[in-house]
Amino acid sequence: MKSFAYKRATSVDEAVLAVAGHPETVYLAGGTNLIDLMKLGVSRPQALVDISRLPLDHLTHQDGHTVIGAMATNAAVAGDPVIRANFPVLSESILAGASGQLRNSASTAGNLLQKTRCAYFQDVNKPCNKRAPGSGCPARAGAHRDLGILGVSTSCIATQPSDMAVALSVLDATVSLRSATGERTVKLQDFYVAPGTTPHRETVLEHGELITQVALPALPEGAVSRYHKVRDRWSYAFAVISVAAVVVMDAHGRIKQARIAWGGVAPRPWRAFLAEAELRGHKPSPELFERALRAELRHATPLPQNEFKVNLVKDVTVGLLTDLAHPAEDRKVTR
Ligand code: SF4
Repeated sequence: MKSFAYKRATSVDEAVLAVAGHPETVYLAGGTNLIDLMKLGVSRPQALVDISRLPLDHLTHQDGHTVIGAMATNAAVAGDPVIRANFPVLSESILAGASGQLRNSASTAGNLLQKTRCAYFQDVNKPCNKRAPGSGCPARAGAHRDLGILGVSTSCIATQPSDMAVALSVLDATVSLRSATGERTVKLQDFYVAPGTTPHRETVLEHGELITQVALPALPEGAVSRYHKVRDRWSYAFAVISVAAVVVMDAHGRIKQARIAWGGVAPRPWRAFLAEAELRGHKPSPELFERALRAELRHATPLPQNEFKVNLVKDVTVGLLTDLAHPAEDRKVTR
């Protein structure tokens, strides 16, 4: 492991100033991903600025809105009683990720910024456009079973591994950023950028910008939400595919609003806007769900080893929507 300098920041301003203007200096939060990458030689910063003791671990609730500090741990967010009641999709997504020990240390901001688990990215002896721009993408002709089918490019087909980000996408979350020159807020949906020819650039973050908090607007009255993750083993595994959904029904049994996001299929949480539009205003049925999801998946560009994800993500989403679109009383009758 390359030696590095270490500094613990005592304020947000101090942290931002210590990183801005120093391209080889990065923030250290929970360290659950960064330290692994440093051990592998994938990340080789000259200096770390430790932000883990900054007062950014707040969790506040007002009128259905919630604000989550960047340093709130994954365990604290998943276990918060208001989040469990108002945003079960978020709590479920976090509990579906990592292990209890990691969730106790991992931060909200770090979860959003974790790196792809593409095997070539993590092996410094292999080319990889994301780690070493211009070196190539061996995954396309190599092992790509776990990689993306939507929104990928010829330069990179990696997926974003965060479960939490998928849930935050259907919750229409916003992310607050602080830099040396000011603050700005971006929608989570706009936070991640398409890989194009520059897959090493994954988000809109400029060097030195610090995530300070994530905000969740109140869900509409009657909204129900859930997260379903398919993985190769029951715990401590990344998503083969995952589905987050929010559904609101009207008084006539029609879908007033459906929000769907997929994980494990794209370089960002994939919000299925085309499917959502197809569902709006209609009575739920298996045929409707199939038609809407096929409209979204028409744009998938799978490779031989991950072609199975197209039907898998469709079928899991049909199951989740079927459950969410029927009130609990109906489900009791039919089961
Ligand atoms: Fe690298 Fe992306 Fe190709 Fe994986 S898919 S080898 S991360 S460029």
